[in-house]
Amino acid sequence: MPKVVALAGGVGGAKLAFGLARNLPPDELTVVVNTGDDDDFHGLHVAPDLDTVMYTLAGVVNPQTGWGRAGDTFAALKGLKEAGEETWFQLGDLDLAVHIRRTHLLREGHTLSEVTRELCERFGVRHAVVPMSDNPVRTIVHTPSEKLSFQEYFVKHRCEPEVRSLEFKGAGRATPSPYFEFAVARADALVIAPSNPFLSVDPILAIPGVAGALKGIRGIRVAISPIIGDRAVKGPAARLFDQIGGEPPSCVAVARRYVGLCTHMVIDRTDEHREEEIGRLGITPVVAQTLMNSNEDRVALGRAVLDLIASST
Ligand code: GDP
Ligand code: CA
Repeated sequence: MPKVVALAGGVGGAKLAFGLARNLPPDELTVVVNTGDDDDFHGLHVAPDLDTVMYTLAGVVNPQTGWGRAGDTFAALKGLKEAGEETWFQLGDLDLAVHIRRTHLLREGHTLSEVTRELCERFGVRHAVVPMSDNPVRTIVHTPSEKLSFQEYFVKHRCEPEVRSLEFKGAGRATPSPYFEFAVARADALVIAPSNPFLSVDPILAIPGVAGALKGIRGIRVAISPIIGDRAVKGPAARLFDQIGGEPPSCVAVARRYVGLCTHMVIDRTDEHREEEIGRLGITPVVAQTLMNSNEDRVALGRAVLDLIASST
């Protein structure tokens, strides 16, 4: 079995991570998660993408939203509002418990990597889920009129403001987390989940040394397109191609962003007619069903990605 490093954001990343985890033993998969979305709410360190991956692998994620916990209640948020806190960022009661625990451990001096490992253990997640860095990196969204924190853009303003550019504050001084470095050094293959290239993958690649180290992984380096039929399955990826990506959204536009980094790219059956264009970029296209609506879909796509890796190692 190959040792796989997967890069992931939140919902799209978690779905593929689930599919990979169901097909690989724990010590052969490391899921490296974007922390550019992390922020403080009510004095607590919230790490949305790490939690989405953890909850999904643990089987406790809210199946309707793809984030948060199944069956969560919102009594604390109601109480916070009554007490004068701003509550546009949705935090369930069970979810809050995790943020309290994380913040508590961080204040005791543990790193985010250590805290994540401890939380994953508690949730029965046996595959490695690791933050991209233990240093703070914060995605800042520049609009024509202001600078927004990522969560202000994404949640409070529902991705409506026009994006001029993205800044990954702190990334230039950040170092990859220890488990990230360890996993890359021994990896046989890289998988880039169908996560948002601008908001979930770019923050990881913005950490000095990361892109070079990933290119050094000798086996297959494969991305799965988050764009299917020129549309995003969810979220602002498609409109970000128009606003800052320099070309309309498509699986080819995704591939162009990964030239030099990826050897292969999985595109959806809907986009089969674009195989040749991707090939011309020097990336080998692989056609599969990439829409993951059920756990079966996730496991099947995970299997397809691992078959591809196995076929060339
Ligand atoms: P976020 O942090 O929650 O925004 O999650 P990610 O960045 O990991 O994933 C968001 C991206 O996942 C979006 O661009 C979606 O188009 C893509 N996505 C979500 N579900 C699927 C799916 O089932 N298949 C594919 N191919 N892409 C998906
Ligand atoms: Ca995210």
